[in-house]
Amino acid sequence: MSVPSEAGGSLARRGVLFVLSSPSGAGKSTIARKLMENDDQLSMSVSATTRPPRPGEVDGEHYHFVDVPTFKDMVGDGEFLEWAHVFGHRYGTPRAPVEASLEAGCDVLFDIDWQGAQQLYQEAGNDVVRVFVLPPSMIELERRLRARNTDSAEVIDARMERAASEIGHWDGYDYVLVNDDVERCYEQVHTILRAERLRRSRQTGLIGFVRRMVRKGE
Ligand code: ADP
Ligand code: 5GP
Repeated sequence: MSVPSEAGGSLARRGVLFVLSSPSGAGKSTIARKLMENDDQLSMSVSATTRPPRPGEVDGEHYHFVDVPTFKDMVGDGEFLEWAHVFGHRYGTPRAPVEASLEAGCDVLFDIDWQGAQQLYQEAGNDVVRVFVLPPSMIELERRLRARNTDSAEVIDARMERAASEIGHWDGYDYVLVNDDVERCYEQVHTILRAERLRRSRQTGLIGFVRRMVRKGE
């Protein structure tokens, strides 16, 4: 995917596909929410899922909640950039809104697991920046899952069982952060995004800018 964007100043640049992953409960949704509140060049990818909504979750905002046959049709029609089985349900990233966001000059934020990060990287290569968020400890991870109060004891046990294997994929990411203090971790994530926007390889407008500058001698 190679859509140039005009965001981030007067020079054209390629949009960033910014992936946040973590074991469930480490804090990626909290960090994603803060990024969306504070960065107006970013749009959030809303995944489709076959899992039932949790209390308070809004269709089309947190996820597109679909049944299994609908999800399978979407897979067959090539509507997903990536998709995977997670916790016994299917989750996928719809392709069209991502392309529309990039066309509109926005970078795109993804809250997806390691399988999605891997597939997205295969699809879009250097446009993808992958950040993995670790909890400070397994004990703190479990405490956060219980404090969040959104899952039953059985679901929390299943998430904790899965956490170790998810953490095992830390080395498939470009950046790995420990979310001890949420403000500090958010600042680190935002710093990474800002710096990645400035990479020379993304600044597609630079060649023309430099040539014009040198020609004019200004
Ligand atoms: P995830 O999206 O990774 O499943 P959440 O963002 O929902 O995780 O965070 C899980 C719980 O932990 C939430 O109740 C959140 O407020 C809390 N939390 C997030 N970061 C921290 C932190 N650094 N310290 C303490 N609690 C945190
Ligand atoms: P939850 O059910 O807690 O919302 O999400 C469970 C896990 O699925 C999280 O790790 C989340 O990052 C991941 N996930 C959410 N949407 C997608 C998606 O579209 N693709 C993939 N691969 N993972 C997703």
